[in-house]
Amino acid sequence: MNYRAFLIKYAEIGIKGKNRYVFEDALCDRIAEKLAKVAEGFDVVREQGRIEVNYPENYDYDEAVSQMQKVFGVWEICPAYVIEDASWDNLAKKTGDYVEERYGNTKHTFKVEARRSDKSYPITSPQICADMGEVILKRFSEFSVDVHNPEILLYVEIRNMAYVYSESIKGPGGMPVGANGHAMLLLSGGIDSPVAGYMVSKRGVTIDAVYFHAPPYTSERAKQKVIDLAKLISVYTGPIKLHVVNFTDVQLAIIDKCPRDELTIIMRRYMMRIAEHFAYENKCQALITGESIGQVASQTPQSLVATNAVCTLPVYRPVIAFDKQDIVDIAEKINTYETSIQPYEDCCTIFVAKHPVTKPNLNIIKKSEELLTEKIDELVQTAIDTDELIIVGKHKKHEED
Ligand code: ATP
Ligand code: MG
Repeated sequence: MNYRAFLIKYAEIGIKGKNRYVFEDALCDRIAEKLAKVAEGFDVVREQGRIEVNYPENYDYDEAVSQMQKVFGVWEICPAYVIEDASWDNLAKKTGDYVEERYGNTKHTFKVEARRSDKSYPITSPQICADMGEVILKRFSEFSVDVHNPEILLYVEIRNMAYVYSESIKGPGGMPVGANGHAMLLLSGGIDSPVAGYMVSKRGVTIDAVYFHAPPYTSERAKQKVIDLAKLISVYTGPIKLHVVNFTDVQLAIIDKCPRDELTIIMRRYMMRIAEHFAYENKCQALITGESIGQVASQTPQSLVATNAVCTLPVYRPVIAFDKQDIVDIAEKINTYETSIQPYEDCCTIFVAKHPVTKPNLNIIKKSEELLTEKIDELVQTAIDTDELIIVGKHKKHEED
């Protein structure tokens, strides 16, 4: 019997030695979660060095492929014939059937690429290539061989069963979410932070997020924009717990007591402190920001020293050395750009000084913060205690709960 399946190839998780199964299991789970949105009855199984996805009778092929293309860790998606009886005569016949079904007897150049991971199989890989080439030439009079630049690269892989395929659809690469710890993203409504979250998540890190708003100075619409951005990246990252923090009173206290030109830096330091609180609460190992050297006054190297100084967790800044255009390119690719450029106010920008410090001195900043001593701890605590938790991008399983 032969049936069809998707053969999923992965790249980096192949080199993880003894922990490999952790990555493979995470990848299987992430693929299964995505496919559950397409139809019931997909079966995702771990094979040696590959993942095999068996599909139900009725499903939307394009939708299934599109979902799998959003799973980090997927390198290539190969729709394949799976041939259980890999004895030579059957393999030759079924491989021909596959070619006939996909291409018919139309003019094509081809090359066979064989791989035999079952070493007990009696024919070596080079021999399979040569023999299968002949089988195809015999059956398809319009076909010819081109070993350098073939139109059809026909893969024949012998494992416990045989797999025949010629199409490889690119996945996003990276590592499956859940394989590499947990981090808290400072998500604003801008272009950079959604991209930063996407990039870290692509390395297999589970993401939660925190957003600071300042009602009534920032609007509900500005908040909704951030929720929308979280939803857009959750297509890749999986569900995100978004903490919406009311930052107004902390911000007003800073405005009231501290030098205006230091406002942004001091505000950023309080954001990091509060974000770190939620990071520890959610057992995160890092914070993530969309900071990039020199982009604005609060992102000069000296400003980053001041912001970083309040953090005890590592801060991942994946776009730190990116040009704006490079960040925009990724934002467009992951579909966040159009939402990010909607013109709604951010709490960082509403009270911003005309001439903010660009080279803050850490000691001076600390001195300025002492002016807040009287009530800042209480205000920070209230901001933390009154956070609104919004979960975006829930899996189907959760939706039914
Ligand atoms: P972005 O495009 O991500 O908004 P930006 O260029 O506007 O970045 P800043 O406003 O200086 O830069 O913010 C730097 C980083 O601080 C952001 O990338 C984000 O990680 C975090 N941040 C800024 N404002 C907020 C906010 N209101 N809520 C949560 N995080 C924020
Ligand atoms: Mg911003």
